Amino acid sequence: MATQKKKIITIEGLLSRIEKLEKRLEILDPKSKNSLPGKSLQISDIEQNLELWSKKFPGINVKIELEKMLDWLSANNKRKKDYKAFFRNWLRKASSDLGNNVPQEEKIKYIFGCQESNCKTIESPYKDMYYFCSICNQQKIVIDKKR
Ligand SMILES: [Zn+2]
Repeated sequence: MATQKKKIITIEGLLSRIEKLEKRLEILDPKSKNSLPGKSLQISDIEQNLELWSKKFPGINVKIELEKMLDWLSANNKRKKDYKAFFRNWLRKASSDLGNNVPQEEKIKYIFGCQESNCKTIESPYKDMYYFCSICNQQKIVIDKKR
């Protein structure tokens, strides 16, 4: 039996491999970075998927936010390359504003914990936070709410 050479993977090694792959991809498909469709196509794509956006940003009226964003863009004479990315950031800001604008007495705290064990819980005013439990090796979920 031949002796197998042990491969040691380092982060540096991985990064340089990724870099090489990216370069190769750019040679194969140099246009990919600039191939986003025009504004109206991007916006109509967002409009057709409002339900999905709404699921990603619960508590936000995504239709109204889209209108607000379009008004803001035209009022400020702004053009964007990637409207989806801009809308995503817009909604992120809208959802964090929402949390900050809720009057103190109505502020709900979401308790994040692990479903099957009594791990440490984390409180947050936002229900869409991502907390990872390194003991259970999984994402913590909202197990309770409190006012
Ligand atoms: Zn846990």
